[in-house]
Amino acid sequence: MTPKYSFIIPIYNEEKTLPELYRRLCAVMARLDAEVELILVNDGSSDRSLQLLRDLHKQDPRVCYLSLARNFGHQIAVTAGLNFARGEAVVVLDADLQDPPELIPDMIEKWRQGYQVIYAQRIQRRQEGWFKRFTAYVFYRILNHLADIDIPTDTGDFCLMDRQVVSVLNAMSERNRYIRGLRSWVGFQQTSIRFERDPRYAGEVKYTFRKSFGLAVNGLVSFSRVPLRISTYVGLLSAVMAIVMAGLVLYWRLAAAHSPLTGFATIAIAIFFLGAVQLVSIGILGEYIGRIYEEVKGRPLYTLAEVAGFHKHTPE
Ligand code: UDP
Ligand code: MG
Repeated sequence: MTPKYSFIIPIYNEEKTLPELYRRLCAVMARLDAEVELILVNDGSSDRSLQLLRDLHKQDPRVCYLSLARNFGHQIAVTAGLNFARGEAVVVLDADLQDPPELIPDMIEKWRQGYQVIYAQRIQRRQEGWFKRFTAYVFYRILNHLADIDIPTDTGDFCLMDRQVVSVLNAMSERNRYIRGLRSWVGFQQTSIRFERDPRYAGEVKYTFRKSFGLAVNGLVSFSRVPLRISTYVGLLSAVMAIVMAGLVLYWRLAAAHSPLTGFATIAIAIFFLGAVQLVSIGILGEYIGRIYEEVKGRPLYTLAEVAGFHKHTPE
């Protein structure tokens, strides 16, 4: 029998939170009307997480797990879970209990009302450092401004998606997966649920500044071509500036007693400015070209080391 609901949870070194996560999920599952499959995706953990997953699977047939052959990153771990999920409604949540599982019945209620994507939108980030809050705030606003699609602000990956949406996501072959962006891109009836984000239950944040920055660049480059246009705009601006300067120099040479524009500083500034503009433009170009290269190689998104709990082992 196929379960009605799938919960997908990426796990990366979460041995400290797993028992509590399982306890709270069990309480939520007991309140639901139909069968649930818990898909725990081990993203190359180096602690005892995988062993805990094996134990849970032995105890409880609702627990299925995938183990990726190395750390592929959060977005890919979720993608692997989506590939294997069989439920009619699929919920994605973090393992650290920052996404309260108790919200899931409310999401399911909205799903019954006919919505196909119900994403959780945080109204507050309790006890996250000011730096993370500030950078997240700025990033989501920039992204919203530049992206071709409307990506709702302050949403993470915590959401419920209908089977129809999951099928579309599974059919997308792109390697650089920014799931919250793709989720907006597909369309369908979407709605939000507001919630307060709790602090991480235990363990360290796995998203280092580097990973968060990578995710942010990924989101921008995947959903906006505006950065490519920046160099065009700056180039045009420089051209206008050069024409104005030429006019000024000509005027000073002809009319003024001595030109105020002579000297090394002026030339040095111009060289540095244009050099910087060119290097940044090349960097931006490289970002897009690198992505084309990634896509063209066509490697699988992840490699699996272990799969358990699914009756048939072929993902969609
Ligand atoms: N995670 C993962 N692979 C990674 C990093 C994180 O699967 O390389 C998982 C992690 O176990 C957690 C979720 O992604 O379930 C979110 O990670 P975290 O709480 O560290 O990030 P944040 O709350 O800062 O978004
Ligand atoms: Mg977290």
